[in-house]
Amino acid sequence: MMLIKNVLLVDAQGQRGPADVLIGEGRILSLEGGEAREVIDGTGLLLAPGFLDLHAHLREPGQEVKEDLFTGLLAAARGGYTDVVSMPNTAPPLDQPETVRALREKAEGLGLARLHPAAALTLGQEGKALAPLGLLKAAGAILFTDDGRTNEDAGTLALGLLQAGALGVPVAVHAEDASLRRGGVMNDGPLSDALGLPGNPPEAEAARIARDLEVLRYALRRAQGGTPRLHVQHLSTERGLALLREAKRAGLPVTAEATPHHLTLTEEALRGLDPLFKVAPPLRTEADREALLEGLLDGTIDAIATDHAPHTLAEKEMDLLRAPFGIPSLEVAFPLLYTELHLKRGFPLPRLIELFTDGPRRVLGLPPLHLGVGAEASLVLLSPKARPVDPSRFASKARYSPWAGQSLSGWPVLTLVAGRAVHRAVG
Ligand SMILES: [Zn+2]
Repeated sequence: MMLIKNVLLVDAQGQRGPADVLIGEGRILSLEGGEAREVIDGTGLLLAPGFLDLHAHLREPGQEVKEDLFTGLLAAARGGYTDVVSMPNTAPPLDQPETVRALREKAEGLGLARLHPAAALTLGQEGKALAPLGLLKAAGAILFTDDGRTNEDAGTLALGLLQAGALGVPVAVHAEDASLRRGGVMNDGPLSDALGLPGNPPEAEAARIARDLEVLRYALRRAQGGTPRLHVQHLSTERGLALLREAKRAGLPVTAEATPHHLTLTEEALRGLDPLFKVAPPLRTEADREALLEGLLDGTIDAIATDHAPHTLAEKEMDLLRAPFGIPSLEVAFPLLYTELHLKRGFPLPRLIELFTDGPRRVLGLPPLHLGVGAEASLVLLSPKARPVDPSRFASKARYSPWAGQSLSGWPVLTLVAGRAVHRAVG
């Protein structure tokens, strides 16, 4: 039994308390205290449902030099995540049921954040032949995606949406037109021209989202059982957001996520030519960033997902043209957005929490998590105390960060998975 005394509660429903939260048998037993072996003073702290990340690259199997299940899921636990969806662009790609099952079993044995593998939509993520979706679902795949690759073949994506829809599993897309993106390493526009760097135009994303929405319409018209559901990953442009807003208003079963970096940084970060800021899709303009913030508020964007994409420091220290795309952010995502959006801009805290909890859960068809008696004790305790980002202390193997040295509040000090502590920095 654990008792968290005098703690403020916050979930998608709002903020309340303080309460004395009694936890036992993996559940919340009472909000009015009780006898417990362990008592934590929650004065000044916030208690929220555990976070779910829809988009993390944990690199196992095959790229353990960048990250592995242990370091990735420990990083997640430290970031307040109780549940993580891992991307299947591993080496080899996760397109076979045996590998999905093995990964899940290994993650369970670690006893950290819970792993929910996404499996490849197509064999080898090559965008041609569908992977064995039914078997992959039976092995535990919670999402299908060729993330990292771009589903150039619309017909295959349509078949995938139909099959996955019949299985009740959403399909997530990295929405970029590869022929428009070409070798772009940053946002295409006056700044990329001035720096003399190849640009990746916002139209590459918008054009692909427009196409994928038509593919979804086709799949919906042809579906015989289940509803095809499309999820747009790491949305980065104002135009892409407008297309999604319109599609949602028309009632299409489409959802979207945005990343911590697209919500807090712009292409201006690339002025110093630092590959730390090289991501795909690229950091965009301030107008795009403002549009995304609107999208968080009006519900066009359902979830904040990290796109935690660790690489070795040697890889990220190559020049901007050659360095790989990606930013590691599992350990800073929540404090970053709590500080930048809630504290600095007054973004409503219950909505921010929803974007880390019930929002991503809805994308996957999981039930919401509320802080009430009987609820599963998958929880995160957050501290308002400010502390600078120190990548040298990351659990992730990627010990660098665009936000290094920045003072943030809202750090997770305790993460519980069904009542079991997977991260603890209090009492
Ligand atoms: Zn991607």
